[in-house]
Amino acid sequence: MNAPARKTMIAGNWKLNKTIREAIELVTLLKRRLCDVENTDVVVCPPYTAISDVGEILAESEIKLGGQDLYWEDKGAFTGEISGAMLKEAGANFVIVGHSERRQFFNETNETVNKKIKAALKNSLTPIVCIGETLEEREGGRTFQVIGAQFKGAFGNFSREEMKKVILAYEPVWAIGTGKVATPQQAQEVHAFIRKELWNAFGEAVASGLRILYGGSVKPGNISDLIKEVDIDGALVGGASLEADQFSELVKQAMVIAPLRGLE
Ligand code: PEP
Repeated sequence: MNAPARKTMIAGNWKLNKTIREAIELVTLLKRRLCDVENTDVVVCPPYTAISDVGEILAESEIKLGGQDLYWEDKGAFTGEISGAMLKEAGANFVIVGHSERRQFFNETNETVNKKIKAALKNSLTPIVCIGETLEEREGGRTFQVIGAQFKGAFGNFSREEMKKVILAYEPVWAIGTGKVATPQQAQEVHAFIRKELWNAFGEAVASGLRILYGGSVKPGNISDLIKEVDIDGALVGGASLEADQFSELVKQAMVIAPLRGLE
């Protein structure tokens, strides 16, 4: 394997799980188990109610905090929404944008994803932008077409400087929460396609520096083979991020693979 040295990232998306008390319990365990993390970025994305408490516990730890979504306006009459500035003040440095569950259940479109990424950058949050095809699209031979359209819709009006601050997550919808993980080869094929799109739109420096995570039923048993692939720079993890043993094991395995990825 001849991977460029992009730092591996393992990010946990807790979704609609964990009360404040449960979130504190989980993050306290993670902080203890992952006190010696190196060569791997670790991020947890709790629900909004728990984000400040989790942030306080993580202060000065190696584990970073992220939101699960944001709205593009800074403030106003937008009941139920949360702004980038609010997330930032609560301690977040990252935010997930365009998760397939938001696209599927909450009418997220490429256009709203684009506005949200801009809002994240404006508030100095690193967006983790999710793209991925459904089973029907894959079986219809439209994977690259769909990924290409999501990519252009999200980043069509971006400058190189803006693009450098983004993290991408390839999350095939058919693999999220289903236990059906993409094979390392299937995932690598799409990651390579995305990197080629990056190269075409933003040039070599952006394409080779930008991290592309894989998401979809990542578990301790499959993470190593995925991140051994040259274009897979880590994982966005749902189910396995809700349990301290599994999530810390994922991070430990990423640390073992890091030297193979050129990270010393
Ligand atoms: C996700 O929600 O981003 C995800 C990848 O979920 P899971 O790991 O449970 O498939």
